[in-house]
Amino acid sequence: MTLTSEIVSRVLRGRTVSFTDNPRLVGVTDAVTTHDDGAVILSDDGHILWHGDFADRPERYADAPIENFGDRIILPGLIDAHVHFPQHRMIAAPAKDLLEWLDRFAFHEEALYASRDHAEEAAESFLDRLITHGTTSALAFSSVHGQAADCLFRAAERRGLCLVTGKTMMDRNAPENVLDTAETGARDSAELIARWHGVERLRYAITVRFAVTSSEAQLRAAGELYADNPSCLMHTHLSESAGEIAFVKQLFPWSKDYTDVYERFGLLGGTAVFAHGIHLSERECQALHEAGSMVVHCPTSNNFLGSGLFDIDHLGAAKRPVNIGVATDVAGGTSYSMLQTLAEAYKVAMLGGRSFNAFDGFYLATLGNARGLGLASEIGTLDPGAWADIVVLDPTATPVLAARDELSETLEDVLFALMMLGDDRAVEATYIRGERVYGSGISQAAS
Ligand SMILES: [Zn+2]
Repeated sequence: MTLTSEIVSRVLRGRTVSFTDNPRLVGVTDAVTTHDDGAVILSDDGHILWHGDFADRPERYADAPIENFGDRIILPGLIDAHVHFPQHRMIAAPAKDLLEWLDRFAFHEEALYASRDHAEEAAESFLDRLITHGTTSALAFSSVHGQAADCLFRAAERRGLCLVTGKTMMDRNAPENVLDTAETGARDSAELIARWHGVERLRYAITVRFAVTSSEAQLRAAGELYADNPSCLMHTHLSESAGEIAFVKQLFPWSKDYTDVYERFGLLGGTAVFAHGIHLSERECQALHEAGSMVVHCPTSNNFLGSGLFDIDHLGAAKRPVNIGVATDVAGGTSYSMLQTLAEAYKVAMLGGRSFNAFDGFYLATLGNARGLGLASEIGTLDPGAWADIVVLDPTATPVLAARDELSETLEDVLFALMMLGDDRAVEATYIRGERVYGSGISQAAS
């Protein structure tokens, strides 16, 4: 944990929910910490000083100002473990599958990020979208242009966000105006690592679009960069659609499977993050488990593009569990809301005959994603020492939610209804580093 100031700035009072572990692995009782009348006490430097029952808060914090949220749910800020910054406008663009969608929409939109002015403006709108949806951290793809990643880093730094991004490396099978080369891709990435990785709360992810759009020379260069910068993350796509998998087999005929392509070039690792992983074999799961990599479930995207059904039990099998995360994958995904994303994860689990409850969902969207990104000591938790990145959700935010809330008997009911029916309208407030950056109407009270 980071050293924190002991000077208190405020107390957030409400129903608090935080996780210490994965409820699917250790059971709900050991994984979830809740307080019906809880308090999260924030320091003046943006950290969490204390979390527990409001009535038990230490005497030394008794005079601190209180923001009283009553029955609202106070959670660690939501984390989006896979989202595309340069696609943020082109959400809901229909195509018959992933490869057609990339050709028809995504590459054209991303080409606009060659303009610094465009990228600067887009970075602000993109971060606004995250914050209004209660998302306080993200692992984001940027475009192929180094300056677009630079703009996003700069905008996130100004807002004090914990953000991970990287310039996309792609040197084939896409239009000329969104391609780099093995050499320029590695050089531009290295420059951005030197400029941004570890600055304030920012991290760099070595970002390979996917095996289809990188030559072997580029994959080798990316692997070397990852080996030279082991504290960076590695971020790419894996095993999303049938057409993509067939294309990878054609491009890399020597490979055992799709995962083997990345493995061969040194791109598996404890900080490697692979979006999708829908069609993984037993061998691939074993390799990802051994590497400690994270596979990120992107249900609204998978359903929208007809890519397939993520199998949470297959990936998480107890004999060799693969770390699982959850994400919007905007703009393949159809919502910025992590709540809507969890709703879709629930439906995908049901279609596959799997279970997925509210605790599973909120764990993944907070501590689960933080662990997969290697940031669990800083975000995804209400534990003292973590950054005070917090979201407050209103279980009665809409007439439909309010009616449903009347029937809720347990906290799990409340969280389930929020997960299934909630979206940005349910976000009452978002805090970054202890400062409220979104939301209004908080009742102030002395006790
Ligand atoms: Zn994606």
